[in-house]
Amino acid sequence: MSASLADKVRKDFPILSTGLAYLDSGATALKPQVVIDAITKYYTDYPANVHRGIYKISDQASIEFERVRGLVQRFIGAEHEEEIIFTSGTTHGLNLVSLLLEQKLKKGDEVIATNIEHHANLIPWQLMSQWIGIELKFLIVNEDDKLTVEQLEKLITPKTKILSITQTSNVSGYSPPVKELATTAHEHGMIVVVDGAQSVPHKPVDVVDLGADFFAFSGHKMCGPTGVGVLYGKKELLEELEPVIGGGSMIDEVELTSATWAPVPEKFEPGTPNIAGVIGLGAAIEYLTAIGMENIQKHERELFNYAIAEFQTKLPGVTIYGPTDMSSRCSIISFAAKNVHPHDMASILDQENVAVRAGHHCAQPLMKHWGVPSTTRASLYLYNNENDVDMLVNGIIKAQELFAE
Ligand code: PMP
Repeated sequence: MSASLADKVRKDFPILSTGLAYLDSGATALKPQVVIDAITKYYTDYPANVHRGIYKISDQASIEFERVRGLVQRFIGAEHEEEIIFTSGTTHGLNLVSLLLEQKLKKGDEVIATNIEHHANLIPWQLMSQWIGIELKFLIVNEDDKLTVEQLEKLITPKTKILSITQTSNVSGYSPPVKELATTAHEHGMIVVVDGAQSVPHKPVDVVDLGADFFAFSGHKMCGPTGVGVLYGKKELLEELEPVIGGGSMIDEVELTSATWAPVPEKFEPGTPNIAGVIGLGAAIEYLTAIGMENIQKHERELFNYAIAEFQTKLPGVTIYGPTDMSSRCSIISFAAKNVHPHDMASILDQENVAVRAGHHCAQPLMKHWGVPSTTRASLYLYNNENDVDMLVNGIIKAQELFAE
C-alpha cells in the first residue's frame, strides 16, 4: 500500500520530522540527508575546480563531476554521455535550446507549443519570435482538457520546424501523449523539444523511446539542489550546432579574433560549472534509483487516487482543474473551493501545517483558458502519505467553514 514507501523514506528528509505536510514538491522537492551530505563533503573535502588543476583534490572533483554525467545519461536513457549538458535548471535549458535552434530557423518558420506550457517553455520562443520573426502556433487543450495528435496534424505546414512541449503539466499533472506527438512531428522533419521538469522526478523516463531531440529538467524538483539542471540533446544535433555562450572551458584553440571549439558537451558548458550542484544531483539520482522510479511512480499513483477519492467524497464544493480522466495525470491537484480565494486557502492550510502553492503557477495562458486568475495546488512526491492528504482535506474543510456564506 502507498503508505509503505513513504514510511520507509520519510526519515531521510530532515524537515519532515517537524510534522509538516509538504505538498509543494511541484515547486521544489525536499532534499534527503544523503544529498545534503554529498554537497557538504565536496565543500569540505575536495573543494577544487574541475578539469583544470593537476593536483589530487581537483582530480577528485573532476572525476566526481564527470561520473554524474554518466549517472544522468543512464537515468534518462540517453545513448551517449556527451549528450548531457549541465545547466542551471529547466529555464536555462529551454532558453539554451531556443538560442541554439535559432541557427535552424528563419523568418516565417513556425514553432508549435501548447497552451499548457510553463512560461519557461513559452517566453524563450516568444523572444525568438520577436528577434527573428518566427511564427508561434499552439495546441490548445480540447473540451477534455487534453492534447491530441489530430490537433498537431492540423497545425503542421511545410514551414513548421519545431514542436516544444511539456511531458507533464505543472498545473494539473496531465501528461500529454508526447511520444505519439513526437512521432508525428518527426514524420514532418521537425525537431522535438521536451520540458521534463515535472516528469523526470516522478517516473522512469527514456528520452530515446520518447522521441525527444532535446529534453530539459531541473535537479531541485528531483531531490537535488537548486541551481543545477540538465539539457539533453541528440549527439548529431549538438555536434552540428554552434555554441551561443562563450568563455573558458568551451574552446580548443583561441586567437585574438577567432577560436575553435571543444567537443560536445564542453562546447556548451562555458565557465566554472555548479560543481557542488552537479555532485548533489548525482547523489539525488543515486538515491531515487536505489528506491526505483517504478516504485515512486506506483506510490504516487496510489496516493493520487486516494487523494482524488477523498476530494470527491469529502469536498463537494471544490473544483479540480484539468482532465477528468485521472489516468492521464498524476501527483498534482489544482483546485478551487467555492467562496475561498486560492491564496486564502493556502494561508489557512499553512496554519494547519500544510504547505501548498497558490497562484497562476507560471502558466497564465492555461489559467486564462480556464477563466480563473489562480488555483491552489497540492503536489505529491515519494515522501507523502495518506496522513498528508488527510491534513490537506481537513484543512480545506476548515477553510470552507471559515468562509461559508
Ligand atoms: N517547466 C515546468 C513544467 C515547471 O514545472 C518548471 C518549474 N516550476 C519549469 C519549467 C522551470 O523550472 P526551473 O524554475 O527549475 O528552471
